[in-house]
Amino acid sequence: MVGDRIGLLGGTFNPIHCGHLRVATEVLEKTRLSRILFIPSHIPPHKKLKDVASPEDRFAMVRLALAGCRRFIASAVEIEGKGKSYSIITLEKIRAAYPGAEVFFIVGVDAFLEIETWRSYRRLLSHSHFIVVSRPGHRLEEAKSVLAGRFLPAIYPLRGRTPIKDDWLERYRIFLLPIHALKISSTDIRQRVKSGRSIRRLVPQAVEAYINKQKLYQE
Ligand code: ATP
Ligand code: MG
Repeated sequence: MVGDRIGLLGGTFNPIHCGHLRVATEVLEKTRLSRILFIPSHIPPHKKLKDVASPEDRFAMVRLALAGCRRFIASAVEIEGKGKSYSIITLEKIRAAYPGAEVFFIVGVDAFLEIETWRSYRRLLSHSHFIVVSRPGHRLEEAKSVLAGRFLPAIYPLRGRTPIKDDWLERYRIFLLPIHALKISSTDIRQRVKSGRSIRRLVPQAVEAYINKQKLYQE
């Protein structure tokens, strides 16, 4: 039986923005995943805690952003896990929840370049597929240099609209997917809010309203 394909888009989502939605939209269109889980981290292991909205607020904004998108699902798996979030543990939990599914970690190339700082990253790379997408400020090809090229044989550039074929999944791969990424970051959004500038159309309207109502990121 051909397994269900599930994408995992993890992040701080502090806050979720239109750049994240663009990633998920293009990955879904180009790779034949059946759904993408958006997984806000509980305590981001590699970030300063200053300026990070509570897990509840970040999760609420993800839910608002995904309302009405049947294939995009807000997942509380890391929020509920309390403590620090580690992808290797998330992977085990997702596998238990979706037995038989093919799992794909979706990451921007900026995040992938830091994979050596992730816990058990070697095990993760050899136990799951990855889809690495473009992000302004980086070239997608930079992903090949990661781990001094040790995972080069696993790297598989995808072109145009070619969907991922089932026989490509016989080993764990790192797919490189060029997308039309948007030049939006959560860091920029937080700075805009702090300095009183508009974030309209950088985040979904419901997220903008939530940030205003809860007075997030205003120092
Ligand atoms: P921050 O500025 O706080 O780091 P961010 O905008 O990078 O926030 P994250 O929550 O850190 O957002 O990102 C989660 C995932 O989404 C990462 O894999 C990241 O590379 C990817 N990502 C975020 N924004 C974009 C974007 N505009 N284009 C492509 N990928 C993105
Ligand atoms: Mg980031």
